Amino acid sequence: MAFAFHILGTSSSGNCSILQADDTRIMLDAGFPGPRLESSLSKVGIEVPAIDAIFITHEHTDHCIGLTALLRQNPLLKVFANRETARRIQATLKIRPNWQIFETGTTFEFRNLKITSIPIPHDAADPVGFALDCPHADSGGHKRVTWLTDLGHATDVVRHHCALADILVLEANYDDEMLDLSKRPMSLKQRIRGNHGHLSNQDARDLLLGLKEWQTSHLYLGHLSKECNRTILVDEMMQAVRNHKEDLQVTVIDPLEETPVSYW
Ligand SMILES: [Zn+2]
Ligand SMILES: [Zn+2]
Repeated sequence: MAFAFHILGTSSSGNCSILQADDTRIMLDAGFPGPRLESSLSKVGIEVPAIDAIFITHEHTDHCIGLTALLRQNPLLKVFANRETARRIQATLKIRPNWQIFETGTTFEFRNLKITSIPIPHDAADPVGFALDCPHADSGGHKRVTWLTDLGHATDVVRHHCALADILVLEANYDDEMLDLSKRPMSLKQRIRGNHGHLSNQDARDLLLGLKEWQTSHLYLGHLSKECNRTILVDEMMQAVRNHKEDLQVTVIDPLEETPVSYW
């Protein structure tokens, strides 16, 4: 299979996807425990030793908890992260991964992929999203997959990268009313809503409706909170986005579903 993008899961409890472009297979975030990662990988026919590299967005456990299990199976696996993220994760590990350090905001190459790390506003050391340019013969050259979760707010850089993505994974973390009604402490609610917290469903909608010359064909809404969101609420909120861009395919990733969602 020349090109495939599998979202193994994305929610506030864990995030991981796999991108395959010709003979390159990379993982974006490794935010599930080992057994869950392995069972999801087997559903898409990929084994851990076949993965060439992992790209980590930030050090929160819902993005890197599975790293140890993956490295146990493949100790030489390349793990890409910026310096601060690598430092924070290393402090929690007993083994030392084959770190591949990049500078936030730069574009670099790995095998046949061109990767841009996108700075994002979130309460981690140096969090990023990723835009991956992949060879794709059917669409006349390449396809760009963009992975943007854990955003306190939409910056100009984030908007720019949303508009340029062919396949976009964007956070829709919480429904405002459900967060209000939840039993979470006020300090946590404020953190989630803060400038370095997460995007609400409404925030995600407003970001997308504001995009100019938006070229995305497939939009995946992810990183939903299990406690403070429902797929149906995100879906309703995205109706305005569907009206705004009629050729857009919109998929809301269910935080309770363990079946991978695949694009190829
Ligand atoms: Zn986070
Ligand atoms: Zn997260």
